[in-house]
Amino acid sequence: MRAGAIQAMERPLEAHNFSGGPGALPAAMLETAREALMEAPGQHLSVLGISHRSDWFREVLDEAEGHIRALLELPDEYHVLLLQGGSTLQFSMVPLALLHGPPHPAQYLHTGYWSGKAIAEARRIGPVEVVWSGEVEGFRRLPAQERLPLDAQAAYFHYVSNETVEGLQFPDVPGREDVLRVADMSSDFLSQALDARRFCLIYAHAQKNLGPSGVVVVIVREDVLARAPDGLPSMLDYRPHAAARSIYNTPPVFAIYVTMLVLRWLREEIGGLEAMEGINRAKAAMLYAAIDESGGFYRGRAAVEARSRMNVVFGLASSALEACFLEEARGEGLFGLEGHRTIGGLRASLYNAVTLDSVEVLCDFMRDFRSRHGRDGA
Ligand SMILES: *Cc1c(COP(=O)(O)O)cnc(C)c1O
Repeated sequence: MRAGAIQAMERPLEAHNFSGGPGALPAAMLETAREALMEAPGQHLSVLGISHRSDWFREVLDEAEGHIRALLELPDEYHVLLLQGGSTLQFSMVPLALLHGPPHPAQYLHTGYWSGKAIAEARRIGPVEVVWSGEVEGFRRLPAQERLPLDAQAAYFHYVSNETVEGLQFPDVPGREDVLRVADMSSDFLSQALDARRFCLIYAHAQKNLGPSGVVVVIVREDVLARAPDGLPSMLDYRPHAAARSIYNTPPVFAIYVTMLVLRWLREEIGGLEAMEGINRAKAAMLYAAIDESGGFYRGRAAVEARSRMNVVFGLASSALEACFLEEARGEGLFGLEGHRTIGGLRASLYNAVTLDSVEVLCDFMRDFRSRHGRDGA
């Protein structure tokens, strides 16, 4: 046995997970999921070997849907679908449903890496107008709503509520009330209070705030389904999924089970979206304070008014110092702090399951690291 392994056994390190995604999950729910790997509650079978047509799984799906409906107080005219293909497939499914004659373009905001991906996919399907882009400025801020040239005739309006890579989050909902509003909420869905009725379609995969990868939540209003053209491949058409209530083909049973557990936790343990938002605000405030009080040692990437509460993106004076930060952080049990591979730097993702305690440990580490590596302990 290696010396490191022995040491690890003697002094188990408490791990704090700041991963950008798949992200942290509530420890108690992981424990329940582990038990279900051996036996799904009352089923004598592993959750990995149980039919998706079983009554048990139908109840799991119904419970998951019920929690989402209750958390958002969702009216009946919305479908809640649990689909596959991640949010990336939604970049295509949305325009397939909504971007077709008469020839009005869809309007998109280009606020970062993920909205750029969504735009590229929509363009394969129909006309897209980018009404604002932060690309030349390196995606450091978000547009002011009143400056956006929004068209009442647009096929729909699409934006990403939280740009996960650059750490930008809309403080309020952009777009016009008279145009179909679509949002990719992959990295901040159910992290805060939300008036879902202002949207015709919301999509968010599970692996950042809700569960493991493999499932994406789509909330879609009935009139969107009615607009979809005939002849779409079934898997790319919301209607067969809505008709089959998310069991059109074999769904990712385990991912949906864990997602249901996390939704149950959010409702019953945390107490709903307002309580969750309060915790998330406290976490982000604590970490941004540690950055702001560092006298420029830590450098926040986003303009202050566009700062994300989910993904805190920052850097140090050099990439060598950042590498040192990451290595020392790992030694303290702080994991997943590297920035996205496309922009480098550092990123602490503060998804729902990341606790205030973990953020406190990170902030203490950051102060200590600065006192050892900053000029005159600045
Ligand atoms: C991570 C992410 C995606 C990509 O999701 P996949 O499930 O990997 O396809 C899309 N949009 C946003 C905002 C993301 O953060």
